[in-house]
Amino acid sequence: MGEEIDGNNVLAQSLKAQGVEFIFGIIGYPVIELSMALQMADIHYIGMRNEQAACYAAQAIGYLTGNPAGVLCVSGPGVLHTFGGMANAQINCWPVVVIGGSAPQDHEGIGGFQECNQVELARPYCKYSARPPSISLIPLHVEKAVRLAKNGRPGAVYLDFPANILSSKVDSDKIPPQYGPTDIPTIYPDPKKIQDAIEVLTQAKKPLVIVGKGAAYARAENEVNELINLTNLPFLATPMGKGVVSDTSEKCIGPARSLALQKADVILLLGARLNWILHFGRPVRFSPDVKIIQIDISAEELHNSIKSTVAIQSDLKTAVSSMVDGLKQKRFNFSSREEWWKLLQTKCNDNKKIVQAMANDIAPPLNYYAVFKNLYEHIPDDCIIVSEGANTMDIGRSILLNKYPRHRLDAGTFGTMGVGPGFAIAASLYCKHYEPKKRVICVEGDSAFGFSGMEIETMVRYKLPIIVVVVNNSGIYTGMEPEVFKDIQESGEITKVTPPGCLSSCTRYDNMMALFGKTGFFVKTIPELNASIEEALKITDGPTVINVIISPTADRKPQTFSWLTESKL
Ligand code: ADP
Ligand code: MG
Repeated sequence: MGEEIDGNNVLAQSLKAQGVEFIFGIIGYPVIELSMALQMADIHYIGMRNEQAACYAAQAIGYLTGNPAGVLCVSGPGVLHTFGGMANAQINCWPVVVIGGSAPQDHEGIGGFQECNQVELARPYCKYSARPPSISLIPLHVEKAVRLAKNGRPGAVYLDFPANILSSKVDSDKIPPQYGPTDIPTIYPDPKKIQDAIEVLTQAKKPLVIVGKGAAYARAENEVNELINLTNLPFLATPMGKGVVSDTSEKCIGPARSLALQKADVILLLGARLNWILHFGRPVRFSPDVKIIQIDISAEELHNSIKSTVAIQSDLKTAVSSMVDGLKQKRFNFSSREEWWKLLQTKCNDNKKIVQAMANDIAPPLNYYAVFKNLYEHIPDDCIIVSEGANTMDIGRSILLNKYPRHRLDAGTFGTMGVGPGFAIAASLYCKHYEPKKRVICVEGDSAFGFSGMEIETMVRYKLPIIVVVVNNSGIYTGMEPEVFKDIQESGEITKVTPPGCLSSCTRYDNMMALFGKTGFFVKTIPELNASIEEALKITDGPTVINVIISPTADRKPQTFSWLTESKL
């Protein structure tokens, strides 16, 4: 007979054996002892303030490291709160393992405390949802869950643990020997398809490469950079594909995005989906005759929305490297003298001038462009930028350039607001453990910040030196001028007349630092902004908040196409 061991310790050791390093969560019945068992198993446990934010943090670790992190939550409401996070991970194709406590099985069906059909409720939001039926089956279930989270197209998984399974004990001889994490199988492209792709690409008159966050997740930066440098092809990055090839590369034609998409005759699509972010690949935003060369790890993704001319199921690293070999043999180089390059460059230059002019207008109340230009000039080159909020994220994306892969985390494919603080916590922990010199800048719209703002306390508790910049226009999309806000507050009809998108005028989010005996920064002018960033960068033992008041009616520069509406299906 071996020693007795309980479910909590078997689970903690199984997670450790599968390489899980970080677990984010909130404790309570029935997972209190489990949280301690996790720390005993040498796993980092980060206590958060809301399970949703915990799930955002865990999935960001999955994206940044390629290795899934866990979420620990209580039964019923705790599990339900993770679903927003699980859906976000699933839709972004990021791995995450959610561990939910649940009511003891002998209370099931008779109104147990927080009893809830968690395995079935979680199922639509993940790749795999299960409940290990006994302690001795926990290691097997954990191995399978972690493997499913990261293999193929990555995503969320859920495991359910009734209180009685966690707390009861078995003879340790009954636990099967655990093996470590299995390798993610490498998927190689069909060589014939690579030849087809090269054929189509080299015939193109107006070629374009689109780099998606799948390329970032695949860690294909060396291969994609080699491809771009070898071929001289113009490229565009999707929001989180930014930095796989530096935004500062002269081959990056981000400022001519609309034109490039509309006129390209061949598009090489590297780890990006033709969903709303890419206007479904359809007219009027794309040419009706565009030929798509699509490379994706997921066979099910091929030909989605429009039929690809060449569709390749493969890992991005292996596929792009095969294409580079083939293109080298052909000595293919897309000449910078081509009309296509000239058209794109002219458009890039024109757009840069418009943005520059807006950024140069620094009269208070500030506009977005002035704020982002100055922020960009003062933050380190290699910082990880987290960003959310409608205008804040959209305008910020084009000005806050990324030079390195996986250095931008934002609302993503699901357009989820509230992800910022959780992502920033994960990014900061990632930096602390793997790249200690790097900083995390979390650029939040004031509305977006509200969803998970209390995670500031988490950042303080774990001494995470995150700089939270709240771009504060006092509302969602737009806010109210201070005088209008005052009039409404004094009227007897606040709920009938406050515009639904408005928030309190010029809220002092910087004063949240006073909760911890610290001061944040309150900024209304560009010199104040620049000075505050410099000061904030000196703070290394915890977060700070820079609250930047901008005009409640600040807006984007005029756009050629209105958002979403012009993608006719
Ligand atoms: P974006 O938002 O940048 O357009 P998406 O999330 O829409 O990116 O698309 C990313 C794509 O990358 C998904 O279809 C996913 O299946 C794919 N992908 C993820 N990992 C890999 C990989 N290792 N190799 C190739 N494709 C991958
Ligand atoms: Mg706002």
